[in-house]
Amino acid sequence: MKHPKEERTYVMIKPDGVQKGLIGEIIKRFEQRDLKIVALEMFKPTKDLIDNHYPKKEEWITRLGEKTKATYEKYGYDLVVDFGTDDTSKIGPEVRKWLVDYMTSSPLVKMVVQGVHAVDVVRKIAGQTMPYLADMGTIRGDFSIDSPALANKEKRAVMNIVHCSETPEEAEHEIKHWFGNQAMHEYKRFGVDE
Ligand code: ADP
Repeated sequence: MKHPKEERTYVMIKPDGVQKGLIGEIIKRFEQRDLKIVALEMFKPTKDLIDNHYPKKEEWITRLGEKTKATYEKYGYDLVVDFGTDDTSKIGPEVRKWLVDYMTSSPLVKMVVQGVHAVDVVRKIAGQTMPYLADMGTIRGDFSIDSPALANKEKRAVMNIVHCSETPEEAEHEIKHWFGNQAMHEYKRFGVDE
């Protein structure tokens, strides 16, 4: 069992976060919550790395389609008009493709964030997936209003500034995927580690 201060999560600043000039703001929000950045790099992702980052399981892909369907139903839009079908197993792969296109459209910033309940706290700081629903005070709620209703009309992924792992298991997998065997940096944070 790891020490509670050693929990780690994977964070990636997405193209809209980089292009809105939010790199410093995002890092600041993690650090001011006493979380520690233990790895950090700007890079241009390959299509393959992004493609392998997002799950390929049919269940996950269909879930993307189901979310889109729920939005369309809520707002009275017609899936068939925009997608040519209302089958979520066909809409999911389309949304996943938009996501890969979006994530390869600009340099990104990847980092590993460490601290007490890092996975949950980072997701709380990021706010919920859909920016138009995210609470103010969160990264997504303060800097974006994007929604699937708009994104899907424009045939693109929802732009929500950051990616952060959902569970400690996912974090471990994503840190390995993006940082390989690179060592994480060790240092003491004043007031946190001593
Ligand atoms: P999270 O990134 O919060 O873990 P998901 O894993 O559900 O969210 O989705 C992955 C990413 O796919 C989201 O961050 C968002 O960019 C995009 N996305 C999710 N649902 C939709 C949708 N219905 N339409 C367009 N893009 C979507």
